[in-house]
Amino acid sequence: MHELSIAQEILRIVHQHVPNPQPNIIKSVKVSIGKMSNVLTDSLTFCFEAITSDSALNGTKLEIIETPIKINCLNCLKESEIEPPVFACPVCGHNQIKIISGTEMRVEEIELFDELEPITESNI
Ligand SMILES: [Zn+2]
Repeated sequence: MHELSIAQEILRIVHQHVPNPQPNIIKSVKVSIGKMSNVLTDSLTFCFEAITSDSALNGTKLEIIETPIKINCLNCLKESEIEPPVFACPVCGHNQIKIISGTEMRVEEIELFDELEPITESNI
């Protein structure tokens, strides 16, 4: 399952930043998932809970932020946010568009109970 491998990758990134976490250390993990990535967020939450349930991360909350799809129109050159499955420029209706964001998957933040671990360069 797609979501299971993403959940495992999130866990790998968490362990990179917090090696050998003790129980009740990690409060939450914040990830941003682009709407274009076709990730079922409920399913991802379920998978994350399943693979952490008998580990020190049991109870760690997965916070998912769905990031919008942004396009650049090659015709009118305007930048817009669009919802799938409409793949035309909302300004001029042209379908020659370039997707500039919405496909990314990133671990943004690992919140510990006593500090915040800011994460950089952590594409899933
Ligand atoms: Zn346009």
